[in-house]
Amino acid sequence: MKTRIGIAGYGNLGRGVEFAVAQNPDTELVAVFTRRNPETVKIQTEGVKVYPIAEAASHKDEIDVLILCGGSATDLPVQTPELAKNFNVIDSFDTHARIPEHFADVDKACKEGHTVGIISVGWDPGLFSLNRIYAESILPNGKTYTFWGKGVSQGHSDAIRRVAGVKRGIQYTIPVPEAVEEVRACKNPELTTRQKHTRECFIVAEEGADLQKIEEEIKTMPNYFSDYDTTVHFISEEEFDRDHTAMPHGGFVIRTGKTGKGENTDQLIEYSLKLGSNPEFTSSVLVAYARAAHRMASEGQTGCKTVFDVAPSYLSPLSGEELRAHLL
Ligand code: NAP
Repeated sequence: MKTRIGIAGYGNLGRGVEFAVAQNPDTELVAVFTRRNPETVKIQTEGVKVYPIAEAASHKDEIDVLILCGGSATDLPVQTPELAKNFNVIDSFDTHARIPEHFADVDKACKEGHTVGIISVGWDPGLFSLNRIYAESILPNGKTYTFWGKGVSQGHSDAIRRVAGVKRGIQYTIPVPEAVEEVRACKNPELTTRQKHTRECFIVAEEGADLQKIEEEIKTMPNYFSDYDTTVHFISEEEFDRDHTAMPHGGFVIRTGKTGKGENTDQLIEYSLKLGSNPEFTSSVLVAYARAAHRMASEGQTGCKTVFDVAPSYLSPLSGEELRAHLL
């Protein structure tokens, strides 16, 4: 059973979904939808058309799963419930604090439309969430740590680009090595925000800009930088183009726990990701969950789901028999 996929929103994730579909022979891309003039959006897959998103509903019979690739801040809270009325949908909504609200909106739309919606798919939320639930269920007496990086934070990069005098800018989140070591040594440290991560910014300044003022404004920016130790580097545009245009990311989820007599035995679970491209990886996760959504919908399931509700075998193109023979 091939899964016919549509993409809604064509940015970094949209492009990544195209690459991921090309690597999965049981999936095929059938349409791309955008809010922009479709003629201005050039995609990579030959023979696939770009349509205005307002016309999406008229293509519902051609598409098994629509993968939503809009931004979490303002696109997905509107687009996912709207499109879930007509399509099985997947999104990567990553505003953690607003997931319960988003879940309720998408659940209502899916129940109305008899569709399946899997929200907050990716790596965090997503694969990291799965590792937290497995680890906490297995080691009830313990402590969970999530470290991010080294990687580019889009939100923080956007924030520094809004500072007056900044022409181009990128921000890397970096785990503090000493904190990670202490956690791995099962010392169960209590770590403050500042002790867990540092932030490093690379800036191309406008000509004649006051560099000291830019640095000060970044380092004291509330919510984004004031709780962290931040380093600011000013570099040339050539260096920026050479070294800072990729979107690497990653991190690790670690749970340390105690088991056995007197709870004296140390146990450690660690899951780690080192990603050359955050969007290309996130898109690969989205496509695996699209396969799952197609299967769940074919079985008559409806409603909003998260990665917690999807059995691992639904993600794989292999049959249950093949999985039991080779991966169990
Ligand atoms: P992006 O490149 O900024 O694209 C977001 C939307 O902006 C696109 O869907 C597109 O919609 C529009 N757009 C893209 N390029 C444009 C251009 N040149 N001009 C005008 N509009 C343009 O964002 P992204 O990097 O794909 O990330 C999307 C979201 O994924 C992020 O907000 C983040 O929350 C989420 N994410 C989640 C995870 C996770 O682990 N869960 C990981 C990474 C990212 P139209 O085609 O409709 O215009």
